[in-house]
Amino acid sequence: MFRKEYAESGVHSVAVLPLIVAEKAVGILVLYAGEKEFFHEEELKLLTGLVDDVAFAIDHIDKRERLDYLSYHDALTGLANRKLFLDRVTQYMRSAVSGGHKLAMFLVDLERFKNINDSLGRPAGDALLRQVAEWLTLNTGDANVVARIGADHFATVLPEIKQGGDGARLLEKMIRDFMDHPFRLNDAVFRIAVKVGVAVFPEDGADADALFRNAEAALKKAKASGERYLFYTQKMTEAVAGKLTLENQLRQALDNHEFVLHYQPKVNLASGRLTGAEALIRWNDPRTGLVPPGRFIPILEETGLIHEVGRWALHQAIADYLRWHAAGLPAVRIAVNVSPLQLRHRGFIDEIGRVIAIDEHAAAGLELEITESLIMEDVKHNIASLQAIRAMGITIAIDDFGTGFSSLSYLAKLPVDTLKIDRSFVIDMTAGPQGLALVSTIIKLAHSLKLNVVAEGVETEEQRRLLHLLDCDEMQGFLFSKPLPGEIFEAEFLVPPMPRIQKGSDG
Ligand code: C2E
Ligand code: MG
Ligand code: MG
Repeated sequence: MFRKEYAESGVHSVAVLPLIVAEKAVGILVLYAGEKEFFHEEELKLLTGLVDDVAFAIDHIDKRERLDYLSYHDALTGLANRKLFLDRVTQYMRSAVSGGHKLAMFLVDLERFKNINDSLGRPAGDALLRQVAEWLTLNTGDANVVARIGADHFATVLPEIKQGGDGARLLEKMIRDFMDHPFRLNDAVFRIAVKVGVAVFPEDGADADALFRNAEAALKKAKASGERYLFYTQKMTEAVAGKLTLENQLRQALDNHEFVLHYQPKVNLASGRLTGAEALIRWNDPRTGLVPPGRFIPILEETGLIHEVGRWALHQAIADYLRWHAAGLPAVRIAVNVSPLQLRHRGFIDEIGRVIAIDEHAAAGLELEITESLIMEDVKHNIASLQAIRAMGITIAIDDFGTGFSSLSYLAKLPVDTLKIDRSFVIDMTAGPQGLALVSTIIKLAHSLKLNVVAEGVETEEQRRLLHLLDCDEMQGFLFSKPLPGEIFEAEFLVPPMPRIQKGSDG
């Protein structure tokens, strides 16, 4: 083709040799000579050998680069691995020293990741890890401060923290935002909870390794406690100290009868009739007034006080029920929430037996609410416990359904009566067609398993209308009533005439 140009510039022989790397031509080597028929067999053999060597070298460099990359990065998410992360932290520590500021290291553990992996499959688990990596990168604004350091463990470093609780506030916001974030897996939306351990430089470790170990220790403590996050030292001890006084106050609260039960009615969506009530505990703190359970149940659980307080709640609910029953009021079943620790306790079933032995009508007045995530944690053992409880005439409800990644095969085997759809699904229901489809599917699933369905946290007329259309059995929520003190619940919903209850029925 270029014969003429070549001849003009004195080229009379050309050899073209391809560079083959990993069975693909990555380039060619072209050699020119002034002599005619310069490239004979001998020369070609030599040159082919040379080209093979070059190809081999290129292949080797490629592999080394990739190996280098892999030895500093996580292949699944592309984030830095632990080694690179610690190298980077070492550098940030140097700037912290020279800049005279502090630095914080956060280790993040995804809760129930194994559960997702098991129930949705490995590809979904991988997809979640990639989404988490993206979220962390986006929300820290810098891929260099994020790393994946274990199967479901991530790390980030805040290279510069200001004085006075800045780190904690930022962390709290991050955790809240993370847990609100809708992760999409297999076309469904999941909310993922995390636990975080924090170590601060320089007080919690002089080098990156020491800081990392202490952040790990803080994470371990956080996982064992009710806390979302824990700092390794100062803040951690502060939190623990705060808890000690709270623990003492809660002990006293039990002795001083400061716990109270409020009752929130449940109603049938079609008839508007009262079908039951949920007992929700509050602490009537003489210093500050009513304290909601979210603030003290974790501490009761951590200290083991939950067993006593849980027993109290069961007795109180049954006592109220029996009082209403004895007064000839249309007493309805009272649902009492049971903590994971209670159900796991060996003596729990005997204790339930003792509670209902008080009166022959007691069992008919009691339901236990157990969160979905708890049941699935030790499903085989729990099936046996639940069977024993149901055999006594007590009914069982799965609480917060949809948040615990139930395995469908187990769900079918669970000896339960009712499924309570978590409030977050009721909220999402009016946000779009997917939310609606999800609630509809849960209701159909429950009905096919012959379970009664209660929607939690119904606040609007629109939600009520949709739930009714979707054939949901019952609802509970502020739309109908907030949780009320026992006397008020009794006066409003049990003592006839019951104007609100008769709404929608004609007799
Ligand atoms: P839960 O069992 O899922 O109870 C429902 C929670 O949703 C209650 O919060 C209730 O007040 C609230 N709620 C009901 N309707 C609405 C609504 O329309 N809108 C909104 N925004 N919220 C609504 P509460 O009373 O603060 O209880 C929180 C959690 O504490 C309960 O969640 C339950 O898991 C736990 N808990 C309550 N009492 C006890 C108890 O005696 N023992 C144990 N172990 N846990 C309890
Ligand atoms: Mg409940
Ligand atoms: Mg609930």
